[in-house]
Amino acid sequence: MKYLKDVLHLFFPKVCCTCNTSLLQTERIICTICRHDLPIICYRNYKDNKIKNAFSGRIPIEKAISFLFYRKESKTKELIHNLKYKGNQEIGTFIGDWFGHLLNESHQLDDIDYIIPVPLHYKKLKLRGFNQLTTFGICLAQHLNTIYLPNILIRTSASKTQTFKQRLERFSKLDTKFSLTDSTIFANKHVLLIDDVITTGATLESCCKELLKSKNIKISIVTMAYTE
Ligand SMILES: [Zn+2]
Repeated sequence: MKYLKDVLHLFFPKVCCTCNTSLLQTERIICTICRHDLPIICYRNYKDNKIKNAFSGRIPIEKAISFLFYRKESKTKELIHNLKYKGNQEIGTFIGDWFGHLLNESHQLDDIDYIIPVPLHYKKLKLRGFNQLTTFGICLAQHLNTIYLPNILIRTSASKTQTFKQRLERFSKLDTKFSLTDSTIFANKHVLLIDDVITTGATLESCCKELLKSKNIKISIVTMAYTE
């Protein structure tokens, strides 16, 4: 088996998904140089950071934590683009494993009952074939020793690719495009809502508004990246 792997690697070397150089057999998804270049967000204070502050006055949340900064020409952008639009779901596992390990060590999210993804509309899911948060969410659930629960929070109408103007409109006028298929399951629970990138936070805010219909729910947010 090892021999077969070596031969396959020789003829079909895997490449770094951000710089396209061949990966060594010990490397996964990205090369060591790019890995060290990733803009990981360091926290001094998990309870009071600028990601959580971005939601203050909008929705009550316990914690909001992102893994990477998302910048215009950054490797983060490449990673997430490869995950979302090139179907490389292993990237979700890669980020979930790394971030999940850090979160577990930080003991910041030890009391999470469920992890739920920002849902895709079923039409979009059909078109893309997968939700880009699935592998990430499953991995996080393993590290945080909790349950990944998709399909309870659903998206009830499709959002088309947004222009800048539409995005502005959306930001100022929040839509209600999410609903719960079970209104009791999250009562008295601490739910971790996950997404890929926080930009305006409007989508997460809409999800939270729906989730807050559950009695005595606590919500925290974790995303792969955060736009400064
Ligand atoms: Zn690289």
